[in-house]
Amino acid sequence: MKYNIAVIKGDGIGDEIVTQAMKTLETVGAAYNHSFAFTPVLMGGCAIDAAGVPLPQETIDVCLKSDSVLLGAVGGPKWDTLPGNLRPEAGLLGLRSVMGLYANIRPAVLFKPLRKACPLRADIADRGFDMVIVRELTGGIYFGERGRRVTENGVEAFDTERYNEMEIRRIAKVAFETAMTRRKKLISIDKANVLESSRLWRETVHKMAEEYPQVEVSDMLVDNAAMQLVKDPSQFDVVVTSNMFGDILSDESAMITGSIGMLASASFGDSKRGLYEPIHGSAPDIAGQDKANPVATILSAAMMLKYSFGLQQECVAIENAVNAVLQTGVRTPDIKDTDTVQVAGTRQMGELICRQIGK
Ligand code: NAD
Repeated sequence: MKYNIAVIKGDGIGDEIVTQAMKTLETVGAAYNHSFAFTPVLMGGCAIDAAGVPLPQETIDVCLKSDSVLLGAVGGPKWDTLPGNLRPEAGLLGLRSVMGLYANIRPAVLFKPLRKACPLRADIADRGFDMVIVRELTGGIYFGERGRRVTENGVEAFDTERYNEMEIRRIAKVAFETAMTRRKKLISIDKANVLESSRLWRETVHKMAEEYPQVEVSDMLVDNAAMQLVKDPSQFDVVVTSNMFGDILSDESAMITGSIGMLASASFGDSKRGLYEPIHGSAPDIAGQDKANPVATILSAAMMLKYSFGLQQECVAIENAVNAVLQTGVRTPDIKDTDTVQVAGTRQMGELICRQIGK
């Protein structure tokens, strides 16, 4: 089967990490008899330099015609002083919006060979963890009404957290369906002791739970969730939460996997076409130095195989290859643990993973 993939390398380390993810897809394709046609398009700082805007129309057209989209990362100091609507990140928000991507799925797995790289106490890390955070991506305080007004106490700024039932139901559905494919345990995270929007969130999730009797559902307040993630992350299977809480908790979950360079993500709307990207940024401090960890992008490509193309076995082949390479003690420089036997660059890490798939 042939799949058309729009490829946005972006800025900073984007080129280096996406190149390795493309090689990994080609290797899996050769092993399992699939072919991937990659169409490169610009977004972010490189698009600003080439076309004057962070999200050119051609990029939108190619992405909407593709079967799925693979992204590196965008942004960098060169474009930091531009007005908000012309900054690289505006390209990413624009693409999420035109693709209608309301669900962001971020698995956080502590690979067994990386237990010593986990910053948590050894007995906690030894229990391991394997969770998926389902984050609402197009609503809440990041998209609510905002502004500034003059008051007798000086300027006042405000942002508004708002959710309607439709938005909560559709993200909860993604979470319940994800839980059904895993350990069937869903924790909904909110701040229902204070926020009205959280109370509606909780009521709506509970109503939906009636449709999924096999899934064990519980609620957790976001402040407690932040503590539980470092106290005992093994208790989490699937987590569903709002845009802002998900943003913060998923970075916390990234940290405890050993490196930000390990975490993949997928974003979806109502179709199978998704946007797959590592959770980290463009890391301008190490760009062009062959130091970036390509694993998060390679695992994002693996998620594409599973979620967009239904190629479960091929996805597992990549995950197993990553685990096998880590098991040999090979690490990119971002991972610091006492089990490191050899430090590899971006290219070598990618090559070793491909070689492992071919075995
Ligand atoms: P960052 O994630 O780029 O980097 C944070 C730290 O982690 C840096 O020290 C970096 O070297 C390291 N790091 C990140 N990815 C790594 C990898 N794969 N391998 C090894 N080390 C890695 O975050 P930042 O420094 O806050 O942001 C840099 C730029 O990226 C900014 O312009 C920001 O706006 C942008 N950004 C983009 C996205 C995106 O495209 N989705 C997300 C976050 C930040």
